[in-house]
Amino acid sequence: MTKIGLEIHCQLTKLESKLFCYCKADYRDIPPNSNICPICMGLPGALPMLNKKAVEKATVLSLALGCQIPKQISFFRKNYFYPDLPKGFQITQYNAYGKTSIGSDGAIQIEGREIKIRRIQIEEDPGRLVYEGSSEKTQITLVDYNRAGTPLVEIVTEPDFENPRQVRIFLNILADLLENLDVSDPYLEGAMRVDGNISVEKANRVEIKNVGSFRDIEKALHFEITRQQSLVERNIPVVAETRHWDEARKITFSSRSKEEEQDYRYLPEADIPIIHLVQSKIEALKDNMPESVVAKKERYVKKYGITPQVGDVLSSDKFYSDLFEKAHTDTNAKEVANIITTDLMGVADTREKKIELKITPRHISDLADAILNNQITRNSGKLALQEMVKTGKSFSEIIVSLDLGNVNDESSLEKIIDEIFEEEKKAVLEARQNPDTVNYIVGKIMRKTKGKADPSTTLEIIRKKLSF
Ligand SMILES: [Zn+2]
Repeated sequence: MTKIGLEIHCQLTKLESKLFCYCKADYRDIPPNSNICPICMGLPGALPMLNKKAVEKATVLSLALGCQIPKQISFFRKNYFYPDLPKGFQITQYNAYGKTSIGSDGAIQIEGREIKIRRIQIEEDPGRLVYEGSSEKTQITLVDYNRAGTPLVEIVTEPDFENPRQVRIFLNILADLLENLDVSDPYLEGAMRVDGNISVEKANRVEIKNVGSFRDIEKALHFEITRQQSLVERNIPVVAETRHWDEARKITFSSRSKEEEQDYRYLPEADIPIIHLVQSKIEALKDNMPESVVAKKERYVKKYGITPQVGDVLSSDKFYSDLFEKAHTDTNAKEVANIITTDLMGVADTREKKIELKITPRHISDLADAILNNQITRNSGKLALQEMVKTGKSFSEIIVSLDLGNVNDESSLEKIIDEIFEEEKKAVLEARQNPDTVNYIVGKIMRKTKGKADPSTTLEIIRKKLSF
């Protein structure tokens, strides 16, 4: 049986400063090596100061994942020598001397299956290595320490996944959760990095390191299953090792041999005291936690009669569920949900596109009301939405400028119907004998009004005129 476990590094991107110093946590778009200080560079004599907010965010995440929170947490030095690690060790958490990492023994449900969370630990991110060309063939490696010391949580699962698809579903749920908890923006480049441990039946465990996209980790795991199975079939042993994912060639390749735990020579970080967590503080964090995605979905379904499918899509995306919360009223909630999940998500499905949207809650609310009051058809509504998204103009302005309002006052509609009757005498005769053919006439009227005629009023008038 295939067994997969994950180690996921999530940056706490919502924090202001790094984990142990005052440098900015947001290291992106800054000239290399300009967001550093003696502490995050590990200069002799510099002492780390633990970021309290990082502990709070990590606690909230641990609570949301159903983890046990210990009474006290402590930090360890994980020693290894690598150019991205200026101190020669990484400050992290370690559970060998009792459970002192911020969370342990949690779980996430995916499709009725429980994925157990072994542990959550707070640690610092190393710097960034920039290669010239590929990491295998490069002659020059540049080091940028702007990222060194930025706050991370590492989430370690049990090997509870049976296939790569479950991994991808899990990661999507986790990303939604991180976003919803305001712990991280998982869609920032490098904010979520995944290591996958995988073994097929009769094979040693292989670790795939540091994959930056969910799609790629799924592909890398698929590749590894095929590779390991074909080795097993030929009686060639699968080497226990660390492998990397080559995005361009879509293969994993062997890198350094895997360090054993003893190689890291974990030792207690003497410069950071043991931190006692106050129970009342944890309770307060729990009480102030944002509504979970699952609870939000249930509320949408129960309170507004939104279908579970729409509720699922809406609740799992923080950007769109925030928009829904601000846009809906008690009477138009269902329509607002439909507009967001079908029409708006169709226009803006990526983070970049969402940022560009010029849409406000008022736009969506006005549009939903107009559809419900029969002032505009759903089709015209789509056009109005596209215009609002592009220009930011108000709904009433767009209705006038694009001439999208419904023709549903009976007298003007009747006039149009009379005109069509005049033009389509043969069809009218046919419809009198066979009412089933009336759709042809309705179609003509729709074309003439550019889809703005209210279908039910139209049909009613025709019925009256043809007396059937
Ligand atoms: Zn610093």
